[in-house]
Amino acid sequence: MSFDSIDRVAVLGAGNMGHGITEVTAMGGYEVTMRDIEQELVDDGYEQIAWSLDKLEEKDRLGESADAVLDRIETTTDLEAAVADADLVIEAAPENLELKHDIFSDLAEFTTEDTLLATNTSSLPITDIAEVLDSPERVLGLHFFNPPVKMDLVEVIYGQETTDEVADAGYEWVESIDKTPIYVRKDVRGFVVNTIVGPFGGEPAFMVSEGDATVREADATMAHERGYPMGPFELADLTGIDVGYHVRTEGGSPIPPITEAKVEAEELGQKTGKGFYDYEDGDGADYQPDDAGDFDWLRVEARMANRAAFLVGEGVATPEEVDTGVQLGLGFPEGICRRADKLGLDTVLEKLETLHEETGAERFEPHSYLEELVSEGNTGEDAGAGFYEYDGDDGALDSYHNINVELEEGVLEIELDRPSRMNAISNDLLAELDDLLSTVDTDDVRCVTVEGVGDRAFSAGADITGFGGADPTDVMDVTPAFETVNDFPRPVVAKIDGYCLGAGLELALACDLRLATERSSFGAPEIGLGLIPGGGGTQRLLRVLGETRAKELVFRGNHIDAERAEEWGLINRAVDRDEFSNVVADFVDDLRNGPPIGLKVAKKVMNEGEDASLEAALAMESQGFGLLFTTEDMREGTAAFAEDREPEFSGE
Ligand code: NAD
Repeated sequence: MSFDSIDRVAVLGAGNMGHGITEVTAMGGYEVTMRDIEQELVDDGYEQIAWSLDKLEEKDRLGESADAVLDRIETTTDLEAAVADADLVIEAAPENLELKHDIFSDLAEFTTEDTLLATNTSSLPITDIAEVLDSPERVLGLHFFNPPVKMDLVEVIYGQETTDEVADAGYEWVESIDKTPIYVRKDVRGFVVNTIVGPFGGEPAFMVSEGDATVREADATMAHERGYPMGPFELADLTGIDVGYHVRTEGGSPIPPITEAKVEAEELGQKTGKGFYDYEDGDGADYQPDDAGDFDWLRVEARMANRAAFLVGEGVATPEEVDTGVQLGLGFPEGICRRADKLGLDTVLEKLETLHEETGAERFEPHSYLEELVSEGNTGEDAGAGFYEYDGDDGALDSYHNINVELEEGVLEIELDRPSRMNAISNDLLAELDDLLSTVDTDDVRCVTVEGVGDRAFSAGADITGFGGADPTDVMDVTPAFETVNDFPRPVVAKIDGYCLGAGLELALACDLRLATERSSFGAPEIGLGLIPGGGGTQRLLRVLGETRAKELVFRGNHIDAERAEEWGLINRAVDRDEFSNVVADFVDDLRNGPPIGLKVAKKVMNEGEDASLEAALAMESQGFGLLFTTEDMREGTAAFAEDREPEFSGE
C-alpha cells in the first residue's frame, strides 16, 4: 500500500464536502467516482462541480478545460461499483458514528486490504470509526476544509492503529493534488486546527459572560489590532453558534453562559438572522476599529499558545505543522507558535498562571511543555529559542517563516509564503526578505527570483489587518526591505502570476525585471483606503511609467491587466500561463550565465544614474566601464567572442 498505487479514488457523499473533494481530486488528475445514496443528490453535487469548474476555467485557473476535468468524474449510487476498483476511498457522509460504522463495514466487504480508507470527519475519533474493520491500520483521517476548492489545508490524521505507510501514502496523495498536508500524529479531539480555534471563540465568550468585555471590544481588538481575519463573535455567527456549542458539549468542555443563552433563544447567528449581531433589523457585524477599548487579548492568545504547547508537547504536531494549520485552515495572520515566541513564552506562562490562580479554572492550567520551555530559558525569539530555534546570523536559509528560500545553481529562489492571505506583505515578511538579502553570500548568487506561493497572487497587497493599532510614526518608518531588493548586487526577477497589488506591486517594482502571466493584474489601490503607496511605489511608478500613467494608477486606484501593463512598460513580458515557466527560464538562464560583475555594475549605474544629472550619470558609467576593463570576465568575454564560443564567466 503506497502512494504510487493510487490511481482511482472513490468519494462517498456528494454533499458540501463530498462534491468539493471529488472536484479537487479530479483537478489533481485522478479518476474519481462520487457516490451518494440517491440519484438526485449525486446529480446536485455533480452540477455544483460543473459550475465551479466553469468559474475556475473562466479565471484561467485550470491547466486544462473544465470538460477534461469533468471527464474524469463518474457518479453512482451503488457503493460496491464505486469502491471496487478504488485505491483510495474518502468517506464524506454525515457526522454520525453509527452511519460511518455501517459504511466502513461495507467497505471491509467491498474493498481489498490494499485499499486506503479515509474519513473526512471533523470531530469523531478516527480510531472509533476504524474499529469495525479487521484491518484498522489502513484507515486514516483526511480532513479537508470547507470549501475544498479554496482551502489548501488537509489534516492527515493517524488513528491509534494507522501505520506510517498508510499515513505517508495519504500525505503524498494530498500533495499530489496540490494541497498542503499536515500530519496529526495522535487522534486528539479537534485534531490540530480546531484544537487552537476553541479558545479563540471560547475565551472571549467567557470574558463577555463575566462582564469583562463587550462583543464589539473583543471583535474589534482581535480583527483590527491582532490581525485575525474576523472577530471571534463574528466568526461564531458565521459558522453557527450551535455548532461551537455542540463541539463543546461533546468534548465535555464548559459552555460560556452567553453561548448557552444564545442557543436557548435560538439566536444561532447569520442563519437565523440574529446571533451576537443582528443581521435582519441591524447592520450585522458592524464593529469598528475604535470599539477595541482595552480588551485583554493576551488572555485569548495565551490560551491558544497553551493549546499549541499541548499539541507539540504530546507529539501530535510540530510547531511548523501547528502554524501551517492555523494559517491555512483559519487564515490567522501568523502561526500561533510563532506569535507566542514573539510575545515571550514567559509572558504567556505568567498570564496563564495568574488566571489559573485567580479563577481556579482548569482551562488556564499551563501545559507542562510550556513550563518546561520557560524553565529551560527557551522563552522565545529574544532568547534565541522557544517553540522554534532562532538561528540568528548563521544565514540558514530555512529559518524563515514567511518566505521560502532555495539556492540552486546560482539562482536564489524566493517564495512569498502566505497563501492564506494571498501573500500579503507583512512587516515580518519584509524583515525576513531584508535579512536574507543582507546576509546571503552574494558570491554564491548569480540571480534572484521572487514569486508568490499558491495559484492566486504574487502578492495582493500589504497586510493591513494590523494597521488599526499602529502608531503613525511606526508606520512612517518605512522598512528597508524594498531598498535592499532594489540595491541587491544581482539581477532580481519578479515572477508574477495573479494579483500584484499595493505593496506587492511595490515589491515587484523594486525588482529589476518583471515577467507576468496574461491573467495577472496590477494596481496601487492604497488611495481607496485613504492612503498612498508607502513602500516606494509613488516614486518607482513615476520612474518606470512616467508621470501620466503613474498618476493614473495612484490617483484612481484601479487595476490594469497584464496586456496594458506590458504596453505601459510596467512589466517586461505578459505571457500565456502555459509558456510562463519557459519564458522565465530563458530570462533566468541569461542572467545566471551573464558576467556577475558586469551585471552588478550595470544595475548600480542604471539605478543611481536615474536620479543623477546626466553629467554625473555619464561619469558613473565611464567609471564603471573602466572598472570592468580590469576583470577576468571581460577577458573571458572577448576571448569567447573571438573563438566563437559561449563565455564562462567566473565573477572575477
Ligand atoms: P452534507 O450533509 O452536506 O453531505 C453529506 C452527504 O452524504 C449527503 O449528501 C448524504 O446524502 C450523503 N450520505 C449519507 N449517507 C451516505 C452513504 N452511506 N454513502 C454515501 N453518502 C451518504 O455534509 P458535509 O458538510 O459534506 O459533511 C460530511 C463530512 O465532512 C462530515 O463527517 C463532516 O463532519 C465533515 N466535514 C464537514 C465540514 C463542513 O464545513 N461542512 C468540514 C470538514 C469536514
